[in-house]
Amino acid sequence: MANRTVTIINGDGIGPEVMAATVRVLEALKLPLEFEYKDAGTEVIAKYGTNLPHETVEAVLRSGVALKGPTGTVVGGGMPSANVGLRKRLDLYSSLRPVKSVPNVKTRYEDVDLIVVRENTESLYAGLEHIIVPGVVESLKIITEKASTRIARFGFEHAKKLGRKKVTAVHKANIMKLSDGLFLDCCRKVGREYPEIQYEEFIIDNLCMQLVKDPTRFDVLVLENLYGDIVSDLCAGLVGGLGVVPGANIGERTAVFEAVHGTAPDIAGKGIANPTALMMSAVMMLEWLDMRDESKRMANAIQKVYTEGKVRTGDLGGGATTRDFTEAIIAAL
Ligand code: NAD
Repeated sequence: MANRTVTIINGDGIGPEVMAATVRVLEALKLPLEFEYKDAGTEVIAKYGTNLPHETVEAVLRSGVALKGPTGTVVGGGMPSANVGLRKRLDLYSSLRPVKSVPNVKTRYEDVDLIVVRENTESLYAGLEHIIVPGVVESLKIITEKASTRIARFGFEHAKKLGRKKVTAVHKANIMKLSDGLFLDCCRKVGREYPEIQYEEFIIDNLCMQLVKDPTRFDVLVLENLYGDIVSDLCAGLVGGLGVVPGANIGERTAVFEAVHGTAPDIAGKGIANPTALMMSAVMMLEWLDMRDESKRMANAIQKVYTEGKVRTGDLGGGATTRDFTEAIIAAL
């Protein structure tokens, strides 16, 4: 069987470090995969004149799957983020973030196990902003029936595939009656096609409070783009932070798997970054590629290292380097 090509995008800051660690583990699994490295991020702007070179997008379109490290963004002004660009150009309409408690990572809750499904292409992220008169800016929130139905269906299908019991649609339709109202209508309609899955609705502010009070009552959350962005990080915080949570951006034919943390400029180049998030994203990627046994092997190895609790990186209170951690995972395979 021919090897499957995976596009690798190192990204900025700690990106190359956590990516090298993850690729080492993938190589140790001896999979029929070939890695094709492509550039994106702020550190390659000088070379290409853009943070998302055309050839990178073309490579992902060809391979259909990419593993990506974090890329930096310029706050206020400058070019759009490489992430938003990739999502738009590849129509990666859904963001999937499983949030599960990690053994020996001390947090307020020990049994969190929920999935955040975020619409990835519209809402306020459409980037439609303009100055009406100096001092007054308008930012447009776009919600369409097509994108809302598509994400609701993705959420229910994913819940069904994993045998999940409940889908919660999240909104602020009491205030944004038209936009969030449409989103909610689409979720309700799709929900009726899945009578075996319980459906409920939560207003975003109440959801945040309930998540902090007791996250274990939630199963699969479906949200429009901005709420999804914020709630994803809130949920990551419930299980130990951005260093231990994986993520995927999935379209009809293409998927990009990436850690959800940023480029961590404060620790970049020091060899102490935690590669768990990207490794767990690689676990999701193997599952998506239908390499289920290998995906389980890698997930079990990560689980084992955390259960033993001897090798941990600085962000989780340990003293291990990225290399120490990677070697522990490879030994556990
Ligand atoms: P950040 O996630 O980079 O850092 C927040 C804190 O978490 C820092 O103290 C950092 O050291 C720590 N941290 C993050 N990942 C870690 C890891 N794997 N191991 C150990 N510690 C880790 O967030 P930020 O500082 O707000 O953002 C920095 C840059 O990253 C910005 O340019 C931002 O736009 C970008 N960013 C990119 C992505 C992405 O590409 N997916 C996501 C978020 C932020």
